[in-house]
Amino acid sequence: MSKNIAISINNLDKSYSNDFKALDKLNLQVPEGSFFGLLGPNGAGKSTLIHCLTGLSIPTGGQAKIFDYDVVRDYKKARKIIGMSPQEINLDWFLSVEDTLDYHGGYHGMKRDERKKQIDTLLKAFKLGDKRKENIRTLSGGMKRRLVIARALMHSPKVLILDEPTAGVDIELRLELWKYMKNENKSGTTILLTTHYIEEAEELCDQIALINKGKIIYSGTKADIKKHYKRTNLESIYLDVIHGTKRDS
Ligand code: ADP
Repeated sequence: MSKNIAISINNLDKSYSNDFKALDKLNLQVPEGSFFGLLGPNGAGKSTLIHCLTGLSIPTGGQAKIFDYDVVRDYKKARKIIGMSPQEINLDWFLSVEDTLDYHGGYHGMKRDERKKQIDTLLKAFKLGDKRKENIRTLSGGMKRRLVIARALMHSPKVLILDEPTAGVDIELRLELWKYMKNENKSGTTILLTTHYIEEAEELCDQIALINKGKIIYSGTKADIKKHYKRTNLESIYLDVIHGTKRDS
Protein backbone atom coordinates (compact mmCIF):
# COMPACT_ATOMS: atom_id res chain seq x y z
CA MET A 1 0.00 0.00 0.00
CA SER A 2 1.48 3.33 -1.01
CA LYS A 3 1.71 5.98 1.66
CA ASN A 4 0.21 9.45 1.46
CA ILE A 5 2.55 12.28 0.64
CA ALA A 6 2.82 14.84 3.43
CA ILE A 7 4.94 17.37 1.55
CA SER A 8 4.89 17.45 -2.21
CA ILE A 9 7.16 19.88 -4.03
CA ASN A 10 7.17 20.20 -7.80
CA ASN A 11 9.55 22.33 -9.82
CA LEU A 12 9.77 24.89 -7.07
CA ASP A 13 11.69 28.05 -7.94
CA LYS A 14 12.70 30.88 -5.71
CA SER A 15 14.61 33.83 -7.08
CA TYR A 16 15.36 36.71 -4.75
CA SER A 17 15.00 40.32 -5.82
CA ASN A 18 18.69 40.42 -6.80
CA ASP A 19 17.86 37.62 -9.31
CA PHE A 20 19.75 35.04 -7.28
CA LYS A 21 18.12 31.66 -7.80
CA ALA A 22 18.05 29.98 -4.37
CA LEU A 23 15.71 27.15 -5.47
CA ASP A 24 16.00 25.81 -8.97
CA LYS A 25 13.09 23.63 -10.15
CA LEU A 26 13.32 21.68 -6.93
CA ASN A 27 11.37 18.41 -6.61
CA LEU A 28 10.80 16.54 -3.38
CA GLN A 29 8.22 14.15 -1.93
CA VAL A 30 8.06 13.57 1.82
CA PRO A 31 5.97 10.50 2.71
CA GLU A 32 3.49 10.75 5.57
CA GLY A 33 4.91 9.43 8.81
CA SER A 34 8.52 9.64 7.69
CA PHE A 35 11.41 11.16 9.59
CA PHE A 36 12.94 13.01 6.70
CA GLY A 37 16.43 14.51 6.78
CA LEU A 38 17.29 17.40 4.45
CA LEU A 39 21.06 17.63 4.27
CA GLY A 40 23.11 20.23 2.48
CA PRO A 41 25.88 22.77 3.01
CA ASN A 42 25.37 26.41 3.98
CA GLY A 43 23.71 28.31 1.17
CA ALA A 44 22.19 25.17 -0.40
CA GLY A 45 18.65 26.55 -0.10
CA LYS A 46 17.34 24.70 2.99
CA SER A 47 16.04 27.79 4.79
CA THR A 48 14.58 29.19 1.59
CA LEU A 49 12.72 25.93 1.06
CA ILE A 50 11.41 25.90 4.63
CA HIS A 51 10.37 29.54 4.32
CA CYS A 52 8.44 28.72 1.15
CA LEU A 53 6.67 25.85 2.93
CA THR A 54 5.75 27.94 5.95
CA GLY A 55 4.59 31.06 4.10
CA LEU A 56 7.53 33.26 5.09
CA SER A 57 8.66 33.44 1.50
CA ILE A 58 6.70 33.27 -1.75
CA PRO A 59 7.99 30.91 -4.42
CA THR A 60 8.59 32.45 -7.83
CA GLY A 61 7.59 29.29 -9.69
CA GLY A 62 6.39 25.71 -9.32
CA GLN A 63 4.19 24.33 -6.58
CA ALA A 64 4.38 22.98 -3.05
CA LYS A 65 1.65 21.28 -1.07
CA ILE A 66 1.29 20.18 2.54
CA PHE A 67 -1.06 17.22 2.17
CA ASP A 68 -3.88 18.73 0.06
CA TYR A 69 -3.06 22.36 0.66
CA ASP A 70 -1.08 24.54 -1.68
CA VAL A 71 1.37 26.61 0.40
CA VAL A 72 0.49 29.79 -1.50
CA ARG A 73 -3.17 29.42 -2.46
CA ASP A 74 -4.30 27.61 0.72
CA TYR A 75 -1.68 29.23 2.91
CA LYS A 76 -3.81 29.38 6.06
CA LYS A 77 -4.83 25.72 5.93
CA ALA A 78 -1.31 24.61 5.09
CA ARG A 79 0.13 26.64 7.97
CA LYS A 80 -2.35 25.12 10.40
CA ILE A 81 -1.03 21.62 9.88
CA ILE A 82 2.63 22.61 10.14
CA GLY A 83 4.58 23.03 13.35
CA MET A 84 7.80 24.97 12.97
CA SER A 85 10.83 25.00 15.18
CA PRO A 86 13.15 27.65 13.71
CA GLN A 87 16.91 27.70 13.88
CA GLU A 88 16.94 30.88 15.96
CA ILE A 89 15.22 30.73 19.34
CA ASN A 90 12.44 33.27 18.76
CA LEU A 91 10.66 33.27 22.11
CA ASP A 92 9.18 36.37 23.71
CA TRP A 93 11.46 36.95 26.68
CA PHE A 94 8.76 38.64 28.73
CA LEU A 95 6.19 35.83 28.52
CA SER A 96 5.91 32.88 30.89
CA VAL A 97 6.41 29.32 29.66
CA GLU A 98 2.69 28.63 29.99
CA ASP A 99 1.64 31.79 28.15
CA THR A 100 4.07 31.06 25.33
CA LEU A 101 2.21 27.83 24.65
CA ASP A 102 -1.21 29.30 25.40
CA TYR A 103 -0.84 32.21 22.94
CA HIS A 104 0.37 29.87 20.24
CA GLY A 105 -2.67 27.65 20.77
CA GLY A 106 -4.94 30.68 20.74
CA TYR A 107 -3.38 31.86 17.48
CA HIS A 108 -4.32 28.50 15.96
CA GLY A 109 -7.89 28.76 17.23
CA MET A 110 -7.71 26.16 20.02
CA LYS A 111 -10.39 26.42 22.71
CA ARG A 112 -9.34 27.23 26.28
CA ASP A 113 -9.92 23.69 27.67
CA GLU A 114 -8.14 22.12 24.77
CA ARG A 115 -5.20 24.50 25.26
CA LYS A 116 -4.95 23.74 28.95
CA LYS A 117 -4.93 19.99 28.36
CA GLN A 118 -2.30 20.25 25.65
CA ILE A 119 -0.12 22.56 27.77
CA ASP A 120 -0.20 20.02 30.62
CA THR A 121 0.78 17.24 28.23
CA LEU A 122 3.63 19.17 26.61
CA LEU A 123 5.08 20.55 29.84
CA LYS A 124 5.19 17.03 31.20
CA ALA A 125 6.67 15.52 28.03
CA PHE A 126 9.35 18.22 27.75
CA LYS A 127 10.09 18.27 31.49
CA LEU A 128 9.13 21.90 31.89
CA GLY A 129 6.33 21.38 34.42
CA ASP A 130 8.11 23.16 37.27
CA LYS A 131 8.88 26.12 35.00
CA ARG A 132 5.27 26.70 34.02
CA LYS A 133 4.95 30.17 35.55
CA GLU A 134 8.56 31.18 34.99
CA ASN A 135 9.58 33.93 32.66
CA ILE A 136 11.38 32.86 29.49
CA ARG A 137 14.41 34.95 30.33
CA THR A 138 15.04 32.86 33.46
CA LEU A 139 15.25 29.58 31.48
CA SER A 140 18.49 27.86 30.53
CA GLY A 141 19.39 27.53 26.85
CA GLY A 142 18.34 23.88 26.88
CA MET A 143 14.95 24.68 28.38
CA LYS A 144 14.36 27.35 25.73
CA ARG A 145 15.24 24.85 23.02
CA ARG A 146 12.75 22.34 24.46
CA LEU A 147 10.09 25.02 24.72
CA VAL A 148 10.51 26.03 21.08
CA ILE A 149 9.82 22.44 20.03
CA ALA A 150 6.93 22.11 22.49
CA ARG A 151 5.42 25.31 21.07
CA ALA A 152 5.70 23.89 17.55
CA LEU A 153 3.66 20.90 18.73
CA MET A 154 1.02 22.90 20.60
CA HIS A 155 -1.58 22.80 17.83
CA SER A 156 -0.90 19.09 17.10
CA PRO A 157 0.48 19.61 13.59
CA LYS A 158 0.62 16.72 11.15
CA VAL A 159 3.98 17.94 9.88
CA LEU A 160 6.78 19.15 12.13
CA ILE A 161 9.65 21.14 10.60
CA LEU A 162 12.79 21.20 12.69
CA ASP A 163 15.45 23.57 11.39
CA GLU A 164 18.77 22.70 13.03
CA PRO A 165 17.07 21.81 16.34
CA THR A 166 20.26 20.74 18.09
CA ALA A 167 22.69 23.35 16.79
CA GLY A 168 25.04 24.35 19.55
CA VAL A 169 23.48 22.22 22.30
CA ASP A 170 25.47 19.91 24.56
CA ILE A 171 25.46 16.17 24.05
CA GLU A 172 23.13 15.48 26.96
CA LEU A 173 20.44 17.79 25.63
CA ARG A 174 20.96 16.53 22.11
CA LEU A 175 20.21 12.97 23.26
CA GLU A 176 17.17 14.22 25.14
CA LEU A 177 15.88 16.14 22.11
CA TRP A 178 16.40 13.06 19.95
CA LYS A 179 14.16 11.14 22.34
CA TYR A 180 11.37 13.72 22.03
CA MET A 181 11.68 13.80 18.24
CA LYS A 182 11.62 10.01 17.96
CA ASN A 183 8.54 9.80 20.18
CA GLU A 184 6.76 12.45 18.17
CA ASN A 185 7.51 10.65 14.92
CA LYS A 186 6.38 7.35 16.44
CA SER A 187 3.06 8.95 17.30
CA GLY A 188 2.53 9.59 13.58
CA THR A 189 3.85 13.11 13.01
CA THR A 190 5.82 13.54 9.80
CA ILE A 191 9.11 15.29 10.56
CA LEU A 192 11.28 17.29 8.18
CA LEU A 193 14.65 17.89 9.78
CA THR A 194 17.57 19.99 8.61
CA THR A 195 20.83 19.36 10.37
CA HIS A 196 24.54 19.84 9.96
CA TYR A 197 25.17 16.81 12.14
CA ILE A 198 25.20 13.87 9.80
CA GLU A 199 25.19 11.46 12.73
CA GLU A 200 21.91 13.06 13.79
CA ALA A 201 20.32 12.25 10.44
CA GLU A 202 21.84 8.77 10.64
CA GLU A 203 20.30 8.21 14.05
CA LEU A 204 16.86 9.71 13.45
CA CYS A 205 15.91 9.71 9.80
CA ASP A 206 14.47 6.94 7.68
CA GLN A 207 14.50 9.14 4.56
CA ILE A 208 17.27 11.43 3.35
CA ALA A 209 17.49 14.10 0.67
CA LEU A 210 20.71 15.78 -0.34
CA ILE A 211 20.32 19.39 -1.45
CA ASN A 212 22.91 21.58 -3.13
CA LYS A 213 22.66 24.79 -5.13
CA GLY A 214 18.89 24.85 -4.93
CA LYS A 215 18.37 21.35 -6.29
CA ILE A 216 17.77 17.93 -4.78
CA ILE A 217 20.66 15.71 -5.78
CA TYR A 218 19.32 12.50 -4.30
CA SER A 219 16.29 11.53 -2.27
CA GLY A 220 15.34 8.15 -0.90
CA THR A 221 15.32 5.91 2.12
CA LYS A 222 18.46 5.79 4.19
CA ALA A 223 19.03 2.24 2.99
CA ASP A 224 18.55 3.28 -0.67
CA ILE A 225 20.98 6.15 -0.52
CA LYS A 226 23.67 3.85 0.86
CA LYS A 227 22.94 1.30 -1.84
CA HIS A 228 22.94 3.98 -4.52
CA TYR A 229 26.33 5.38 -3.52
CA LYS A 230 27.65 1.95 -2.54
CA ARG A 231 28.62 3.17 0.93
CA THR A 232 27.63 2.19 4.42
CA ASN A 233 28.41 5.56 5.91
CA LEU A 234 26.16 8.58 5.36
CA GLU A 235 28.88 11.05 6.23
CA SER A 236 31.21 9.81 3.53
CA ILE A 237 28.37 9.96 0.99
CA TYR A 238 27.59 13.50 2.06
CA LEU A 239 31.18 14.66 1.82
CA ASP A 240 31.67 13.05 -1.58
CA VAL A 241 28.45 14.24 -3.12
CA ILE A 242 28.31 17.72 -1.67
CA HIS A 243 31.97 18.61 -1.55
CA GLY A 244 33.09 16.46 -4.44
CA THR A 245 31.82 17.07 -7.91
CA LYS A 246 29.48 14.09 -8.22
CA ARG A 247 25.99 14.97 -9.39
CA ASP A 248 23.99 11.78 -9.54
CA SER A 249 20.38 11.39 -10.73
P1 ADP B 1 20.76 27.31 3.68
O1 ADP B 1 19.62 27.44 4.61
O2 ADP B 1 20.87 25.98 3.02
O3 ADP B 1 22.07 27.71 4.31
P2 ADP B 1 19.56 29.60 2.33
O4 ADP B 1 18.23 29.16 1.87
O5 ADP B 1 19.64 30.45 3.56
O6 ADP B 1 20.53 28.34 2.46
O7 ADP B 1 20.25 30.42 1.17
C1 ADP B 1 20.33 29.94 -0.17
C2 ADP B 1 21.00 31.00 -1.02
O8 ADP B 1 20.10 32.11 -1.17
C3 ADP B 1 22.28 31.56 -0.42
O9 ADP B 1 23.22 31.77 -1.46
C4 ADP B 1 21.84 32.87 0.19
O10 ADP B 1 22.89 33.80 0.18
C5 ADP B 1 20.74 33.31 -0.77
N1 ADP B 1 19.73 34.15 -0.11
C6 ADP B 1 19.01 33.83 1.00
N2 ADP B 1 18.17 34.83 1.32
C7 ADP B 1 18.35 35.81 0.39
C8 ADP B 1 17.78 37.10 0.17
N3 ADP B 1 16.82 37.57 0.96
N4 ADP B 1 18.21 37.80 -0.91
C9 ADP B 1 19.16 37.30 -1.73
N5 ADP B 1 19.74 36.09 -1.58
C10 ADP B 1 19.36 35.36 -0.52
